[in-house]
Amino acid sequence: MARSKSILTEARQIERAVTLIQLGARLQVLESETDLSYERLLRLYKEVAGKSPSKGQLPFSTDWFMTWQPNIHASLFLNTHEYLNKVAALDEIDTVIKAYQLYLEQMQSQGLEPLLSVTRAWRLVKFVDNGMLTMTKCRKCGGHFVTHPHEIARHYVCGLCNPPARAGKGKPAVQRSLDNHDAEPAGDLRTGMGLHLCPRGGAFVPAAGGH
Ligand SMILES: [Zn+2]
Repeated sequence: MARSKSILTEARQIERAVTLIQLGARLQVLESETDLSYERLLRLYKEVAGKSPSKGQLPFSTDWFMTWQPNIHASLFLNTHEYLNKVAALDEIDTVIKAYQLYLEQMQSQGLEPLLSVTRAWRLVKFVDNGMLTMTKCRKCGGHFVTHPHEIARHYVCGLCNPPARAGKGKPAVQRSLDNHDAEPAGDLRTGMGLHLCPRGGAFVPAAGGH
């Protein structure tokens, strides 16, 4: 079987694998998304990343996506992903790659640290495919955010409209980040959240290249 595999198909798979490695994907993502053997992927990984892939389990829980800042990042990515799904005829994994690249661009343009890894982004899409996570519209800002499927839309308020109280929730990094990025970036991110509301609006044009 492997013998009859087209060289072009294989080249395409290697190219994908290289892109994913460059984006920081875990080896399990590559194994899942290409037909390349484990040995070849391992060699490719070492060659591209210049180190051995990290071992250990992939994150299997949906909990991370529900925490405050990760939820905002995940939602931004997923909105982009949904948008590309509608307007571009890409293979599934290429949609993930492209959406993740756009997410990184957006983080960079806003001077924010990307909290969402490509492996988590990939998991997120799987969780949505499996019905373990979905998106719910915030009743205040109208943006779409990652939630559990049973979220009651009528009452749902997102983490941008209702950030956690500074005193509670404990995580110093989150608090610091909130202090650093007050209203302005949140407003820009919100534009990202709403983008699949108006797919023809042209509000979100991939920033690559420019004019
Ligand atoms: Zn909101």
